[in-house]
Amino acid sequence: MFIDGEHVDAAERDEIRDPATEEIYATIARGTAADADAAVAAARAAFDSGAWSRLAPAERSAVLTRIAERIGEELEELVDLEIHANGATVRQATGFHVGYAPAHFLYFAELAASYHWERHVPTAAYPTMSTNVIRREPLGVCAAIVPWNFPLLLGIWKIGPALAAGNSVVIKPDEKTPLSLLRLCEIAHECGVPAGVINLVTGPGPEVGARLAEHPDVDKVAFTGSTAVGREIMRLASGTVKNVSLELGGKGAQVLLDDADLDVAIDGALFGCMLYSGQICESGTRLLVSANMYDQVVDRLVDRASSLKLGETTDFDTDLGPVISARQRDRVLGFLDSAKDAGAKVVLGGGIPRGERFTRGYWIEPTIIAEVTNEMKVAREEIFGPVLCVLRYTDEADAIRQANDSQYGLSAGVWAADYERALEVASRLRAGTIWINNWHQIDPALPFGGYKQSGLGRELGRGALDEYTETKHVHIDLTQNLERHIFDALLSTPPRK
Ligand code: NAD
Repeated sequence: MFIDGEHVDAAERDEIRDPATEEIYATIARGTAADADAAVAAARAAFDSGAWSRLAPAERSAVLTRIAERIGEELEELVDLEIHANGATVRQATGFHVGYAPAHFLYFAELAASYHWERHVPTAAYPTMSTNVIRREPLGVCAAIVPWNFPLLLGIWKIGPALAAGNSVVIKPDEKTPLSLLRLCEIAHECGVPAGVINLVTGPGPEVGARLAEHPDVDKVAFTGSTAVGREIMRLASGTVKNVSLELGGKGAQVLLDDADLDVAIDGALFGCMLYSGQICESGTRLLVSANMYDQVVDRLVDRASSLKLGETTDFDTDLGPVISARQRDRVLGFLDSAKDAGAKVVLGGGIPRGERFTRGYWIEPTIIAEVTNEMKVAREEIFGPVLCVLRYTDEADAIRQANDSQYGLSAGVWAADYERALEVASRLRAGTIWINNWHQIDPALPFGGYKQSGLGRELGRGALDEYTETKHVHIDLTQNLERHIFDALLSTPPRK
């Protein structure tokens, strides 16, 4: 753990096993609620000292810029720390998981310098002459609870704006993937973030994460993870009416319109669903296809997905790695059974790949399920595996209805040649991000988050700093003349001379 600028161990340890080999890659301190309390105390003291919270934004920006540069310099080491814990392939981690990290961190570094921390607003609304200052101030102590799939990046989406605004942070990574974030804490400290401003506590979510969510000295909890835990975080945070932001699950619908370029749409639909073995919250896991082209599309998907290469995550040629754990593999297999029982057809994959290599690690074949209807469990719940469900629609209105018929609303997309038609469909899809003729395109300058039960608030974009600041209005009266004041609303008698 990393508390108050020091490495801290614990009485017990958890093992981190490489999902591709099941070998122990590292052991990690198993923190407790007491460690969470110690980290919050350090964060509070650092905040109150003003060493970071009262630094000029330009100075914070300079320190954060150095951190972004260091992340870039250590990219390969960070990729290594991440893929042996979360099972991403080196190609995916270099491109996305870790590859995005320097630019995303730099975005927040620059935002620290350009954000409107203070606005002066003269107004004639008051009876006396006044001026007004609208200030954005840091919230205090922010807890960042992060899942295993993109630990460094999803951590940065919280740590970046939190630090840019002058807050202190306590990070709670997933038990399986603390390593890259632990390194980020060290880098931040080395680059000049004062002790106590950035802390990391490991340990079980229901103990350490829950303690942070309910802690009276934590001002905000930012969480990415499952919708079920998101609800629990909201409940725990309500005791002290904390600021809460949530990025939760998804069941992204890809609407394939009948004029789409199928070369782009078939590869794009597989990219949208199967990247990182489908373990991305915004994955497009339901592909909606018009009845008149359904069979042709399914055939072409099967043909292209059959070429996906599973294997060593450390090999740049590998397309697909394992899933995160044995539990997750078994859960995915359970979903496939439920689909078959409900009458759907597994037209590709559906099991553990054959061969000696796949007797170690947690593997699932790339899987395509046809004849899925939107009422089936596979269409309603997050699978978090390399499984694409293909559904049939009768007309555009039916496609939109099915796409929106979900408790989730994180992502959706349209494959189409006619952009006016695609935009019309996009305007009716209820999701936080809509991709037209692409998927997984994320820019740190543009907001990301969910409608409905996919979350609360938005990460990234200029608005991200709003989510890590309080708004303060300072009213400055410029009138010294008592007669011009309206104190007589209370004091009807003039003062004695
Ligand atoms: P999870 O909700 O089980 O765990 C996420 C984090 O919460 C972990 O750090 C965990 O230790 C902690 N946690 C668990 N129980 C807790 C509790 N009771 N109180 C406080 N903290 C607790 O999620 P997961 O299975 O690890 O991750 C996968 C889920 O995350 C999927 O549902 C996926 O869609 C979602 N996700 C969403 C986004 C997004 O941006 N919307 C991004 C990535 C993942």
